[in-house]
Parts: sequence; structure tokens; C-alpha cells
Amino acid sequence: MKREEILDGLRRSPKVDVCIIGGGINGISVFRELALQGLNVLLVEKHDYCSGASSALSRMVHGGLRYLENGEFKLVQESLVERDRLLRNAPHYVAPLPTTVPVFDIFSGLGNGIVRFLGLSRRPSRRGAVAIKAGLSIYDFLTRKRALMPRHQFRGRRTTLAKWPALNPDIKSSATYFDAWVSHPERLGIELLQDGLLAEPGAMALNYAELRRMENGRYCVEDRIGGASVAVEPALIINATGGWIDVANRTLFSQEARPAPLIGGTKGSHLIIDNAELRDALADHMIYYENEDGRICILFPYLGKVLVGSTDIRVDDPETVRCEAEERDYILQSLAFVLPDITIRSEQIVFRFAGVRPLPASTDSFTGRIPRDHFCTVLEPSEGGPPVLCMIGGKWTTFRSFGELAADQALEKLGRRRRVATTDRPIGGGRAFPANRSVWLAQAASGKGLSAGRMAELFGRYGTDAEAIAGFIAAGRDTALPHAGYSTRELQLLIRDEAVEHLDDLLLRRTTLAVSGELSLDMTDAVLDLLAQEKCWTQGRRAGERDRFLTLLNERHGVDEDMLSARNEPRSTECDTTAKSG
Ligand SMILES: Cc1cc2nc3c(=O)[nH]c(=O)nc-3n(C[C@H](O)[C@H](O)[C@H](O)COP(=O)(O)OP(=O)(O)OC[C@H]3O[C@@H](n4cnc5c(N)ncnc54)[C@H](O)[C@@H]3O)c2cc1C
Repeated sequence: MKREEILDGLRRSPKVDVCIIGGGINGISVFRELALQGLNVLLVEKHDYCSGASSALSRMVHGGLRYLENGEFKLVQESLVERDRLLRNAPHYVAPLPTTVPVFDIFSGLGNGIVRFLGLSRRPSRRGAVAIKAGLSIYDFLTRKRALMPRHQFRGRRTTLAKWPALNPDIKSSATYFDAWVSHPERLGIELLQDGLLAEPGAMALNYAELRRMENGRYCVEDRIGGASVAVEPALIINATGGWIDVANRTLFSQEARPAPLIGGTKGSHLIIDNAELRDALADHMIYYENEDGRICILFPYLGKVLVGSTDIRVDDPETVRCEAEERDYILQSLAFVLPDITIRSEQIVFRFAGVRPLPASTDSFTGRIPRDHFCTVLEPSEGGPPVLCMIGGKWTTFRSFGELAADQALEKLGRRRRVATTDRPIGGGRAFPANRSVWLAQAASGKGLSAGRMAELFGRYGTDAEAIAGFIAAGRDTALPHAGYSTRELQLLIRDEAVEHLDDLLLRRTTLAVSGELSLDMTDAVLDLLAQEKCWTQGRRAGERDRFLTLLNERHGVDEDMLSARNEPRSTECDTTAKSG
């Protein structure tokens, strides 16, 4: 359904069972859950889908080894179950990740971990081999029945340095265990959304839209694209705005009825680094290490580059967070500690991103100790109107179980029953995932008349959905784009089917062009031309979009126009040469 059809539908019939505000991974997850149960559900997202914390994660799909020292065993167990489900349900985007912990001490951390567990200290301390061994044994124990991945293994100093010669030589040993990573978290969000939309004709979703409480206590949806304001009458509201929960509650309740703060978010930033020596030094492992101040940092190969992070800083307003210079310096310093001989030049930082962890309100002085678990709270407005179910906390890894929990509470509130479970439901291009990839690729390529290489590229980006995309590409006139891996028909399909409203939706979230540091200025302009043509934009609107995108990329992601120009393919000088020689 297109935007105008959704808004017209609401004008005709404003009653909906549930209105979800916030289209991050948790809002989308509960949307899919409720749509699958046949509810008339409306999702409104103020910006683009998965543009908040859900695009800023470390891209780990994990149990959370370090949450064990906070005593969060239930959360770790649930996260490991969800990690393993994602490996099965979204194998096109979620894959195992061998993770190595360099160990600098033998005994330290154990006593402190117990003391912390007993609530006697909150301070982080160095984790020694015995503490790490204890944590990894619990990890293995919790996954012993499924055993999808190998158990942990310790290496002595000599064998560790033989495999990772660039590691800080002060290490005493290392431990390797398996977790998982997600390559395209924002795309997975879009696929979940589409699953919900396809399941129920009464399910509707709008990005760039907000729910507002009007003077008369009723609600309306404000469309930030077309400017319309349309009344809506939800029986229940779900506030899934993550780090914005308290800000959003201010727009849902009158001043007198405003609830107490629920969230105390912390900002985290990451860098994407293009340095082959660094990438090769990792030997395809994540290095999960403790910085000198006791904070955990991570480092792993990501789309041909290296992802490094992160910081943990309290913030009040998630709206304008970005990776600041001090955070960049902190991350680079942590890198210099773990891999001392590798030098990173500033131009090798090809992208940076930041987001706010939606953590429950807490007065803990050490941000790393704030509980990472999730829960729901229902607020009943004293002034009348629908109840507001707030989703608080939550990791990316547990989006399905958190969405399920919120949906069950919503169903109970509305007196409805669950019809469909999502535990074993494949997501998007994870459906009918082939056991034998090369056979699948060969068949799909010949069926659609595309080269095997192009088909493999599409499969890498969309899983088994690649077949339908290849069909669309083959059915029309396709043209190459400046980035050799993409073509006009492929991007046209994303524009038409995936609610693309701005250039940044396409370049930052529907594709990995920007985050992978591969986006050039020529590619930006070529994609903008395509988008302007699809949307029938005027020259003025086109210029405005270009400005919006370049400003966003510079201010939020540290990529300026010169960096983009430097990535342009060198233009052929053949004509000039001929002219001169002639
Ligand atoms: C630095 C960092 C690293 C992390 N690493 C990991 C990791 O490796 N693994 C892991 O499992 N988890 C990780 N997380 C946690 C994970 O990213 C988040 O828990 C998860 O993405 C939260 O999703 P969400 O949908 O609740 O919030 P968000 O993704 O922030 O979504 C909230 C949405 O609400 C929208 N919104 C706000 N106000 C309104 C309004 N009034 N109306 C409509 N919409 C509104 C926002 O635009 C936003 O899109 C990390 C988080 C951070 C910040």
C-alpha cells in the first residue's frame, strides 16, 4: 500500500486495534507479531525505519558474555536462544563469528565479578583467564543442547601470537568462542516489516510520520512527507521509540498526566576502518578485548573493512548523536592498546556511526553495569484515552522475543488470541535457504538469464529474495551504475517496494554503500538521478535532497564531499590524449 492509500484508508476508517510508534527493530518486531495475529495495526516512524539504535549496533548477534558478570543469566540464555534462531531464520544476514578474547591476567576479575554479583561494587576491573573461562563454560552450558557452533577453546601465549602476531605481546593467553554477527541489520528490519504487511491487509506502516495527541485528547497521524494530518483512533498505543520513549510520552500525555522517566540511554560510537593490515591481522575473527580502563571493545572484519567500537556515554536526547572527536580518539587508543604496531591514518576512517542504547532509567555510576534486559510497562492515562504499552530496553539480538512479549501483553489487553508463532518463521531472503548454494545460484542465474557472478552478488545482498529481484532486473532495460556492483533496475525495485522517501534511505539503509565506505560522489549523483526520476522530483527538490544527504553524511558519519570525490573511478583521458597526439 502506498502512503496516500494508507492515509486515505485512515480518513475513511480511523479506528485501528494498535498504533505502534517507533520503527526500529523492536517496533517492527511487535508490528509483525500483531499483523500475523490478524490485528489491524498501524506503525508510524518519525524518521526512516531502523535509523536509530537499530542502525548503530556493533552488529553482534550474541548472548552477551559480559552480562554474566552483572548476573543477567536469564537475559544471556534468552539471547543465546534468539541468536541460534536467527542463524536458522535469517541465514542470509546472520552468520557465525569466531570471537577471540586476548587474556592479560590469570586470576584477576574473578573475585571482583563475585563481589559485583553480590552488589558490593559496580566498578569494572580486568578480567583474568579464570573469570573468562568461567563465563565461556556457562556459555557452552547454556547452548549444549543445540550445539550449533563449536565449544570454546583456550590457546597459550605462543600459539596465540603465532595466529595473531600483531596482538599486544603482553598477553598471557587467549580464548576463542563462537557468537554471530549481522551484515545488514537495517535490511532485516525492512524484511520483517514486509512480512507483517503481507500477512494482514489491515496492517499499515508509514515512515516519516508521527502520532500526536490533539487538544481534544484525540490522536492524529502527521505525515512529514505530504504534510497531511489525519485523525486516528487506536484501542492501544505501543511506544517502541527506544531511546526516545520519554520524549515520545510527552507527545502522548498532557503535561499533568506525564509519566515518570523510563529510559536512561547511553550513546555508543563505532568507526569503519579501511586498512588491509588491520583486517588481515584479525584472521577472520572478532577480537573482543578489554581496553586499559576495563571497558569491553570489539573489532571485526566487516564488508571488506574493519568495524571497531564502542563508547558508552550517558545522553539525554538521542536526536542528534554522532561520533565525536574524543570518541574517535578513545576508539583509536583502544586499538593501539590491543594491536600496538598497526597505525591507522585518519583518511582510513571511511565511516562512523553512533546511536543510543535504550537502557532502563538507572542511577548506576558505571554505564556498563546498567541492566540490558527488556520489559514492558502499561501506562493507563488518567485523562482517558487508550493505554500506552512502553517497550523498555532490549538488545537487537532479542528483537523477536521482545516483540513477542509486547504482542502477548497487547493481545491480552485487547482480549485477542495468538494464532501464529514466530519462533521458527524464516525472515525475508532467509526463506527456502539452499543447503547447496552453488547449485541454487547456477539454477537461478540460468532461469533469469543473469551471469553467475551477478546472481551471487544479489544473493549476498538479498538471500533467496535475489531470485525475484533478478526476475525484475531481467524484465526491463538495465543500466550499469558507477558502482559496478549495482544497476538501475535493482535500485528501482528497492525504491518502489521498500518505502524509500529520501536519498539517505537508499544509500544508508536499503544498501550498505555508505557504511562499507564504498560510496563515491559519482554514485551518489547517479542514484539521486534515478530516485528523482522515480519520484518525479523537480530540480529544486533534487538539489535539496543532495544537500540533505551530503550534510547528514558529513555531520553524522564524518564523510565529506572530498572523501566521496576521491572514491570516484578515474575518468578516461583517452580523448585528450588523442587530441594531443593528433
Ligand atoms: C552503540 C550500540 C551498540 C549496540 N550493539 C549491539 C549489538 O552488537 N548487539 C545487540 O544485540 N544489540 C546491540 N545494541 C542494542 C540495539 O541496537 C538496540 O537495543 C536496538 O536496536 C533497539 O531498537 P529499538 O527499536 O528499541 O530502538 P531504535 O532503533 O532506536 O528505534 C526507535 C525508533 O523510534 C523512532 N521515534 C522516536 N520518536 C518517535 C515518535 N515520536 N514517533 C515515531 N517514531 C519515533 C526513532 O526515529 C527510531 O527509529 C547496540 C546499541 C548501541 C547504541
